[in-house]
Amino acid sequence: MAGSEFHVGRTKVCLVQGDITDMDTDAIVNAANSTLMGGGGVDGAIHRRAGPRILEECRRIRAEEWPEGLPTGKAVITSGGNLKAKRVIHSVGPVWRGGSQDEPKLLADAYRNSLRLAVSNGLKSVAFPSISTGAYGYPIEQASRVALNVIREFLEREDKLERVVFVLFTKEDLEIYEKAAKHLCPSERQP
Ligand code: ADP
Repeated sequence: MAGSEFHVGRTKVCLVQGDITDMDTDAIVNAANSTLMGGGGVDGAIHRRAGPRILEECRRIRAEEWPEGLPTGKAVITSGGNLKAKRVIHSVGPVWRGGSQDEPKLLADAYRNSLRLAVSNGLKSVAFPSISTGAYGYPIEQASRVALNVIREFLEREDKLERVVFVLFTKEDLEIYEKAAKHLCPSERQP
């Protein structure tokens, strides 16, 4: 599999090209929408492959915790259904509206809250898609810098995760994340 890796503290960060539904990490993160009822892109692929059980869990979460929908930047966790991953963390990234509507902060919140949930559930490995850069239109060069920056900040303070993986769907997207990693993390990179 194409890709690259580096460490932040004790955590290995991997950038790979692939389909996130193939990942065998403890959790995969879903770029969900606030309804939590499924959708296109990663969301559709995850629900298709995981089966109906996680939709049932999402329904319960909506009814019990978020009747108005999950707000942008927040995250919730379900089982993994039929996926190899044991759990799915559903997080809502921001829709890109030109960059002046708090999009970078909301995107960082989505990553940070997903990482917090992984840690509080005792998980050791988690895989992320490129949140918000599909249907939500966030320019991927900017999103990749936000994503890698927040993950670095989080992992500098928290050493319970062994592995964080970014799964990029295309070779072009992988190259953009690799370029962002080079510029953001020079002091952290280890062979
Ligand atoms: P959003 O609505 O947050 O923009 P999307 O699912 O539309 O979410 O897209 C987010 C990113 O995920 C895009 O870069 C898209 O190419 C990518 N993507 C779509 N399907 C998959 C998949 N099965 N595995 C990994 N990445 C995927």
